[in-house]
Amino acid sequence: MGYDLERFVGYVNEGLLCCVCRDVLEDPLQAPCEHAFCSSCIHGWLVHHNTCPEDRLPLDISHLRPLFRYMRNDLARLQVRCVFRPQGCEVICTLESVHRHEQQCDYALLNCSNAGCPVKVSRRSLEAHLCVCEYSSRVCASGCGYTILNTEEAQHNCVSELRAELDMLRAELDCKVEEVRQEMESRLDIQRRHMVQKESLLRSEVDELKGQLSRVMSDVRVLLGAERVRRQELEKAELL
Ligand SMILES: [Zn+2]
Ligand SMILES: [Zn+2]
Ligand SMILES: [Zn+2]
Ligand SMILES: [Zn+2]
Ligand SMILES: [Zn+2]
Repeated sequence: MGYDLERFVGYVNEGLLCCVCRDVLEDPLQAPCEHAFCSSCIHGWLVHHNTCPEDRLPLDISHLRPLFRYMRNDLARLQVRCVFRPQGCEVICTLESVHRHEQQCDYALLNCSNAGCPVKVSRRSLEAHLCVCEYSSRVCASGCGYTILNTEEAQHNCVSELRAELDMLRAELDCKVEEVRQEMESRLDIQRRHMVQKESLLRSEVDELKGQLSRVMSDVRVLLGAERVRRQELEKAELL
């Protein structure tokens, strides 16, 4: 799409108008028949046609060439009004420099810089808007550390905010403590079970040893008995 003819000051040569949109050429290309078009206009036209829109001569994308240099110069020197004229900008400059102006124009419409704010304001009134923007936020001046939106400022109460946070932290802490307690308990349980097993193992070992000991004792008793018998026999033999 070309530049709206209404924006231009003074006479614009017919040759500098696009044969498709009839506005002033933007990013121009020309056909071998010397008709000129905005780049986007002629590309759009050639999607469904294969002729020049002006004289119907055969035309293919590959035939398109840059505009004659003298025409490009004429185009660049045209006087045009800033696109933000409806917003109040009175600037008029050459077509080749208008883009640079519009980039930094005070009347350029910008999105408000606050996240979520749908407002568009001119660059020059952005600052005033930011002072009243509902989406502006700042850190609480009373030092609670919260960031509060302009709209919330009236209801903001540091003490209740902090109390709510404290309650949350306390609940979190309780939760953690309970977790640790359960963990410890289950560990203790495992150890307890372990010790019970060990104890019964030891007990059976003791029983085993007791059995061995009583067997040894009875063996000893048998041996002592035999010894006594032998000694008596010896004494008898000596007496004879
Ligand atoms: Zn055009
Ligand atoms: Zn033509
Ligand atoms: Zn401007
Ligand atoms: Zn805003
Ligand atoms: Zn506060």
